[in-house]
Amino acid sequence: MMKTDVHEILIDLDKKHFIHPTSSLKQQNESGATFIFTSGEGVYLTDTSGKRVLEGMASLWNVNVGYGRKELAEAAYDQMTKLAFTNSFSSMSNEPAIRLASKLAELAPGNLNAVFFTSGGSESNDTAYKLARYYWKLKGHAEKKKIISQKKGYHGVNIGATSATGISPFHSLTNSHAPDFVHVDTFSLDSLRECIKREGANHIAAFITEPVQGAGGVNIAPEGYLQEVRKICDENNILLIVDEVITGFGRTGKMFACEHYGVTPDLMLFAKGVTSGYIPLGGVMVTDTIHQELIDLSEGVLLHGYTYSGHATACAVGLKNIEIIENENLVENSRIMGEELLNGFKSLQMEFDFIGEVRTLGLIGAIEMVNPETNERFDTLIAPRVSAEAAKRGLIVRTVGFEGMDTVVFSPPLIINKQEIHELISILREALIAVQKSLQEGKRC
Ligand code: PMP
Repeated sequence: MMKTDVHEILIDLDKKHFIHPTSSLKQQNESGATFIFTSGEGVYLTDTSGKRVLEGMASLWNVNVGYGRKELAEAAYDQMTKLAFTNSFSSMSNEPAIRLASKLAELAPGNLNAVFFTSGGSESNDTAYKLARYYWKLKGHAEKKKIISQKKGYHGVNIGATSATGISPFHSLTNSHAPDFVHVDTFSLDSLRECIKREGANHIAAFITEPVQGAGGVNIAPEGYLQEVRKICDENNILLIVDEVITGFGRTGKMFACEHYGVTPDLMLFAKGVTSGYIPLGGVMVTDTIHQELIDLSEGVLLHGYTYSGHATACAVGLKNIEIIENENLVENSRIMGEELLNGFKSLQMEFDFIGEVRTLGLIGAIEMVNPETNERFDTLIAPRVSAEAAKRGLIVRTVGFEGMDTVVFSPPLIINKQEIHELISILREALIAVQKSLQEGKRC
């Protein structure tokens, strides 16, 4: 059978049977999948037609060690053939989960030394909200239930995490917001203070923030912000949760992004980069203080646990993935290549008058599309056109087009080298030239 025949068959089956997450169901049904990937190597993916593309997003900000890492497959194979899985409920445990938990304690800032494992970011978020509420309940403050989060913040899609997410289209999907979630302005201390005053600190369990908002458009918390938030939370007896689901494991040029600010949260969430996406895993880290209080004050069973909490194979892959990150100095590479990426963005900004702000922190970055005549967003979104032109030329990037954003976002694998960064910038430039042409033609019509 010809390769293209297989492609057509898969396109058809995909349309009929595979409901894609976070996608336009209509578009998928009408046009079919743009890419059906079959293999990956380093920073590149190959699809059924043999087309090779540079992955400018590390898939969903997570394939940090790049594609095709045999060490990770071997770690999974070794663990699966020994003991693939056994549950960690009650008094059961397994060696990879214990070893990964203690490795994470070694890596995490401050006294974040205990881990509750999940299978991803959304589960980590719901777990954190429940643990925060449970903590206050045990301390005799059952009324401290509200979770404050930020506009443009993204925390996942189960009901709790959707409610904490500050991007309104996610709420309008079902119009059913969970109670006790409140949003404040992005990175605004005044808005947070005002919210605490309005809602009452005695009703607030926790404040959650991403140090760099990812899905909300790669918005980097300004210097000093997280330090002030730490103070405000302490003064008001509010727990600070930092969502490091994207930013953890080297993405921003530090092992965890809160290290840029010298702040230790009370709870820290991770997922994605812990296994570089080779297998689902996530978790919530808590400080020794919280861990001890939970031990001392709780009675009976902590009735929260996923079947796959502490999954042996996932944890074995996580351990090997962290070993790769450390052995290959990927945190430092992220910092250095992030600067290279920023230089590339700056050169494009000089060349194209419709590029507004550009920014990076390590290997997470964004370029904003701005109408040079008004200095505001164009009437129709431009970023999706850039991303479509880039995809045609062999570069995958994502776009953010809600809450007033018209932004192309980037998050390449942390193994990317200088030459590959230059390739990324050069393809992006070609895509921008194509968009520029269409903008000029549009003006002439
Ligand atoms: N938090 C953040 C900051 C995220 O970016 C994401 C996913 N993009 C999540 C939570 C949810 O993670 P998951 O998709 O693994 O449930």
